[in-house]
Amino acid sequence: MSEAAQKESTAEDIRDVVILGSGCSGLTAAIYAARSNLKPLVIEGHEPGGQLSVTTLVENFPGWPDGVQGPELVENMRKQAEKFGAELEMGHLVNADLNKAPIELDFGSKTVRTRTLIVASGASARWLGLPSEQALIGHGVSSCATCDGFFFSGKEICVIGGGDSAMEEAIFLTRFATKVYLIHRSAAFRASKIMLERAMAHPSIEFLTNTIVEEVLGVEEKEVRGIRIRNTATNEVREIGLSGFFLGIGHIPNAKFFAGQMDLDEDGYIVSKDNVFTTLQGKVIPGVFCAGDVQDRRYRQAITASGTGCMAALEVEKYLEEHGR
Ligand code: NDP
Repeated sequence: MSEAAQKESTAEDIRDVVILGSGCSGLTAAIYAARSNLKPLVIEGHEPGGQLSVTTLVENFPGWPDGVQGPELVENMRKQAEKFGAELEMGHLVNADLNKAPIELDFGSKTVRTRTLIVASGASARWLGLPSEQALIGHGVSSCATCDGFFFSGKEICVIGGGDSAMEEAIFLTRFATKVYLIHRSAAFRASKIMLERAMAHPSIEFLTNTIVEEVLGVEEKEVRGIRIRNTATNEVREIGLSGFFLGIGHIPNAKFFAGQMDLDEDGYIVSKDNVFTTLQGKVIPGVFCAGDVQDRRYRQAITASGTGCMAALEVEKYLEEHGR
């Protein structure tokens, strides 16, 4: 079949709802939409399961008094969605036309048409990109202090970054770690004055500025045992022994495909109305909803992502009902 023929879809192919993203916001939306008999199609991108799939023990998701492994939690959500009739497919969005009714989503080999869309494509933590860092994710390297801080009770750790996220993480992690090295590549900080001062005044936090990480040590042992750093002002290289390596260098929301078609803020997050409606020039876009971290730079928790996923699915139902479905 020619590509053009493959891309053609008939009226029967039009979906009631497509959910972009299979993290906890997308899967919660899928559970609700599937239970309402809307047969949602969930598109899994390059990180199936979202950020939970790279976390270890989740101890703050209500209902799990002994904690649950992140991958297990998200796998359970997926099973629950499938049980009620959600379909999951791998796909990488090439183009989207939100002006069309139905909405058209181009996945390269296939075009999907849908009456409503929930953008739940999440945000990806920014990493340094060092091979040693990538190899040790989940083994002492983490991008989520709230999720993983507890495992470093009585240990020494470091936080990378010079913005509010890094300050917040460093201060939070002093609850567990005996010492926190705050490692920042520049001399000046982006963090707000109050957060910076609070972190600087903390007796357990040591600041190392003009400092870059050359390697996270412990790849062979499969457990972080230290870092090799270089002072860019003096070129001095040294090693520090520690057990935890936390990134606080920001997140990248996965919304760039919608630039120009929906309001995004200066960092690329969807500017949502009531945490669930998308807008263009301040006006709500009919049938296009959002959920989870792609529109949330503030809370970024599994439970808040699930909450907005639920809200988006309920809005989809309401929208379809109002439009005669
Ligand atoms: P920011 O963009 O503010 O800061 C990112 C930091 O990471 C910068 O210091 C930057 O260094 C550093 N960085 C970026 N890339 C690299 C890299 N490849 N290697 C080393 N360092 C790197 O991001 P945040 O996540 O801190 O904050 C985002 C927004 O969220 C801000 O508006 C912030 O105020 C807000 N926020 C507010 C909080 C609160 O009020 N409680 C808590 C957390 C965030 P450099 O400066 O050299 O570029």
